[in-house]
Amino acid sequence: MNKPTFDISSVATPCYVTEECYLKKNCEILKKVQDDTGCKILLAQKAFSMYSAYPLISGYLSGTTASGLYEARLGYEYFGKETHVFSPAYSDSEITEIAKYAGHFVFNSVRQFAMHREAVKNKRCLIRVNPRFSTQEGHAIYDPCAKGSRLGQTLASFEEDVSKYGLDGIDGLHFHTLCEQNSDDLKRTAEQVEKQFGKYLKNMNVINFGGGHHITREDYDIATLEEVIRHFENEYGLEVYLEPGEAVALNAGFLVTTVLDVIDGKINGENDIAILDASAACHMPDVLEMPYRPVIIQPNGDTAGEPNEKSVTVRLGGNTCLAGDVIGDYSFDRPLKTGDRLVLCDMSIYSMVKNNTFNGMALPTIYYNTSLGMREIRQFGYEDFRDRL
Ligand SMILES: *Cc1c(COP(=O)(O)O)cnc(C)c1O
Repeated sequence: MNKPTFDISSVATPCYVTEECYLKKNCEILKKVQDDTGCKILLAQKAFSMYSAYPLISGYLSGTTASGLYEARLGYEYFGKETHVFSPAYSDSEITEIAKYAGHFVFNSVRQFAMHREAVKNKRCLIRVNPRFSTQEGHAIYDPCAKGSRLGQTLASFEEDVSKYGLDGIDGLHFHTLCEQNSDDLKRTAEQVEKQFGKYLKNMNVINFGGGHHITREDYDIATLEEVIRHFENEYGLEVYLEPGEAVALNAGFLVTTVLDVIDGKINGENDIAILDASAACHMPDVLEMPYRPVIIQPNGDTAGEPNEKSVTVRLGGNTCLAGDVIGDYSFDRPLKTGDRLVLCDMSIYSMVKNNTFNGMALPTIYYNTSLGMREIRQFGYEDFRDRL
């Protein structure tokens, strides 16, 4: 786990701090995959849209992908290079505007493509397919292969559409079925895609493996990823795209928070509870949704333990009215006290893009720590709360 390289007492809390050195490390790994194989890797902006870092990332990656109009526009305006987009359905007005920014469109079905054929003349168009091959257990809301999924076409549904609308104007296929997974799962998924859709790939130009590849994680098997990429390049002459979000900014940033108060739990026969100036519900919703447990580092460099591992176990909670606004139970060598700071790790992804002002909570300040020093990117105030309502 990457540790903060900045002075934790130097920032206003709560805040997100993204570190250029760690982004760069990730980008170098991704660029090497591109260089080794000739594939193209895009930043999936839905995980990380801190566009002050786009000039750095665009030095390594081939472009961005978007989940709709606003992300497409952001990628076009601030990242440059290629702009791709996927949406389960496009409205007529939206797709006309997206076409000003994006060069590559992924459609959820051949029928969706046929509905919008005119708007995307001269664009590269892909169809999202769904091999209905689940490789993940646990979080069903992140599994596009679950029964009843609305994301991408099964072979039967694809063939039904092809018989009605043909394949004219379609450049390739897209599949996205993974979430925080290694390349063994990609390999098994790709074999399924090939088995089911291989006969169509022979006449196509592009395949997009979607996101969910945890390429920059320490134990990720890059050799197997490259083997799968090369297989599609060599067997079908396809241009291969990957569009990871997490992997680009994995472990590249932190959320720094201050303890506002500590409730003595002994009286109720429970652990102490620390109320933080940050909220799981507002500032790191994936802690509750995914759910996951962030690694926590103290200013002295110590890592907080599992409950009862160290001498004092404390429940860390947010400063909202939601009973479940709890980050987790952690243990420390000494009791926490008002004013103590804590650093929550891996907080650049799916945090800034998902936060909210529930309870009128202030949004955390955004910092970018670069080789030129700490930059405050944006502070938020009352107006940011008011002006959305
Ligand atoms: C979510 C998503 C991604 C990025 O996923 P990560 O898990 O952040 O790598 C890429 N493509 C599509 C279609 C997605 O829905």
